[in-house]
Amino acid sequence: MKKALILGVTGQDGTYLADFLLKKNYEVFGTFRRTSHKCFERLEEIKIFDLVHTIKADLADQGSIQNAIKKSDPDEIYNLAAQSFVGTSFSQPILTSDITGLGTLRVLEAIKQLTPNIKLYHASSSEMFGNYPEIKNENSPFLPRSPYGVAKVFAHNMTKHYREAYGIFASCGILFNHESPLRGLEFVTRRISYEIAQIKFKKKTKISLGNLKAKRDWGFAGDYVEAMWMMLQQKTPDDYVIATGESHSVEEFLSLASEIAGLGDWHDLVEIDPEFIRPLDIDDLVGDPSKAKKELGWKPKVNFKELVKMMVEHDIDYFRHYVDPFDISINRN
Ligand code: NDP
Ligand code: GDP
Repeated sequence: MKKALILGVTGQDGTYLADFLLKKNYEVFGTFRRTSHKCFERLEEIKIFDLVHTIKADLADQGSIQNAIKKSDPDEIYNLAAQSFVGTSFSQPILTSDITGLGTLRVLEAIKQLTPNIKLYHASSSEMFGNYPEIKNENSPFLPRSPYGVAKVFAHNMTKHYREAYGIFASCGILFNHESPLRGLEFVTRRISYEIAQIKFKKKTKISLGNLKAKRDWGFAGDYVEAMWMMLQQKTPDDYVIATGESHSVEEFLSLASEIAGLGDWHDLVEIDPEFIRPLDIDDLVGDPSKAKKELGWKPKVNFKELVKMMVEHDIDYFRHYVDPFDISINRN
């Protein structure tokens, strides 16, 4: 039985990946960090919490990363842990650089010291490309426009360095935005699906948003974790863009979500709040997944409309069946 260690198993991707690997008969270990409240709600929602061996580790703490590797003795490590929200990276650039940037280096150094023969997947990001104008592929230049993007460029280049200098089997997935009903509540897609559902059940009347013209290449997280695994089944490590190849605006997402919820014209549901406008933003991110299609045999299964429908129906279902004892407040920038 193969063993996998997922750094950041409590996140959106960590949860889908754990589920995927369990179905492939892996023994799955996953790290979580100390919090003052429970943090396993995603694993519990899809009913796999009892199947994952959890280990406490923080990317700020070298010893805890080493401990997680020693305890799990894995064949494959998936480094998904990060401060992953671009908005927060503007207000907490030092923390973002420490965790998303240096944290990756701590993982690489622990692997070099302890288990140089394992396979590593590293979560790179389309944010690294910034406003480079064309459809992005593995050879496009990095022009990051946020502290998060800058930290991801550092982590990406450092992962390549450890691959080239020390022969570590390390592959970087340059993933474009991927969403799901398990997406964090501060990301725009989940804010829309969750708050549309709140409006439907008369818990609020308006959604406050920022830049509605921004376009993203939105795919389904469940499809994207399969690509992570496929990268580690290749003979040699490499970097791959994972994307759908089409982008849609925040407005389009909103319009479709409102239609699915039966709420009519979305213009009546939205107010623009400057608090959600970023100091710098990326206008349009769209990726070319040709290399992943050709070399990995990967392609997305869920399209944009299906994704919006899945997210809105999930959140409507949540509010239909559950009366929230507390008003869950959304984290702002
Ligand atoms: P999430 O924010 O949902 O999950 C991030 C995970 O990292 C969580 O388990 C989180 O723990 C953990 N984490 C945060 N800080 C630390 C820390 N200091 N030490 C250890 N663990 C920590 O992100 P996603 O699942 O969406 O993304 C997974 C990875 O892919 C991230 O690296 C992200 O940057 C990258 N990525 C994501 C994209 C997307 O569209 N989803 C696109 C491209 C790249 P906790 O639950 O306690 O917060
Ligand atoms: P990102 O691509 O990783 O930054 O993912 P987000 O979901 O956080 O943001 C996607 C795009 O939506 C960005 O261009 C944001 O500026 C834009 N956007 C517009 N309004 C909002 C909002 O209220 N919250 C967030 N998170 N993003 C918003």
